[in-house]
Amino acid sequence: MSGQKTVYLDNNATTMVAPEVVDVMMPFFIEKYGNPSSMHTFGGQVGEHIETARRQVAELLGASPEEILFTSCGTESDSTALLSALRAYPEKRHIVTSKVEHPAIKSLVENLEVFTGRRYRVSSLPVDRQGMIDLAEYQQMLTDDTAIVSVMWANNETGNIYPIEKMAAMAKARGILFHTDAVQAVGKVAINLAELDVDYLSMSGHKLHAPKGVGALYVRKGTPFVPFLAGGHQESGHRGGTENVASIVGFGKACAMAAERMEEENTRVKAMRDRLEEGLLASIPKSMLNGSKENRLPNTTNISFEFVEGEAILLHMNLYNICASSGSACTSGSLEPSHVLRAMGVPLTAAHGSVRFSFSTYNSEEDVDYVLEKMPAIIDTLRQLSPFWEK
Ligand code: PLP
Repeated sequence: MSGQKTVYLDNNATTMVAPEVVDVMMPFFIEKYGNPSSMHTFGGQVGEHIETARRQVAELLGASPEEILFTSCGTESDSTALLSALRAYPEKRHIVTSKVEHPAIKSLVENLEVFTGRRYRVSSLPVDRQGMIDLAEYQQMLTDDTAIVSVMWANNETGNIYPIEKMAAMAKARGILFHTDAVQAVGKVAINLAELDVDYLSMSGHKLHAPKGVGALYVRKGTPFVPFLAGGHQESGHRGGTENVASIVGFGKACAMAAERMEEENTRVKAMRDRLEEGLLASIPKSMLNGSKENRLPNTTNISFEFVEGEAILLHMNLYNICASSGSACTSGSLEPSHVLRAMGVPLTAAHGSVRFSFSTYNSEEDVDYVLEKMPAIIDTLRQLSPFWEK
């Protein structure tokens, strides 16, 4: 093990900050550290760089710069969007979402009474065995009382991509606001908001090689908006708080780079992902893909190895410096499979043993070779210890 470099296949959790991103951020710590709200030139000049970053983010999304609000993370963007819509239409008491949302949306909609002081009815779209939704079922959920729909663009665990274009158009036809949590999609799939009926879109820097602690929310021109953070006049009065200048500048650069790398994401990165997926499924018995084969992010594969625990697999992988994530998390002493895999109806024996591998442009073919070499023995060793595995 010693001497083996880390094989990082957990890019849906977070990504390395691109060296080019670090380079553009550096001047904002020591040379240009002024506050963009200051009256003096030293501070004021910093504001121009925030506006450049805003243009770079907007360009990646096919939006106008005035439609981009910088936030601290994807979670803040999600809360800002949903609570804006609910405050704009206090008389509407129904929300449509899906059963596979990230906790940033899931726990918000489960606790809306705490945040708004009002009670809401929440309809959560079920998913099929591949994790996909049914548009006819979605159509039936939309009512005159629906304030907002919030459905993710791509799922963080399986990589499944949802039909956001159609869903947004269907919401618009009913006069309902539409939000999408695109934290996992931005930079991996082409997005052109100018052609869509999306009203709010959330994104996060650290999923596309910018630093942690910066995000953005797209708010379509004319869409209701209520600030989440009261305070100064920053972000045109839409979000109080001194701007995280260096990270915003880095985020802009990362978006410009993502636009250039999109093709690579869909060819080289996808090919590596496919080779790993096919190799694991072929070499390890009782393994299966979780998620849609076709409608999926190019960098993600989620594979279940039956009759073993995901956390045990990760610990063994860790001994070989391989980083990935598991679909089961140890909560209150019991190993609970993820809500996403449960919603998909993945059998418990498989849901417990799921591992998500997520690539980035910084992975190599050697990483794939190494994981393909190590995984069969890891799973076999664990299965020999499992009382459920027939030896
Ligand atoms: N939404 C999705 C789909 C995510 O995958 C994540 C992070 O994993 C978030 C929201 C939260 O983003 P952040 O970590 O920037 O708050």
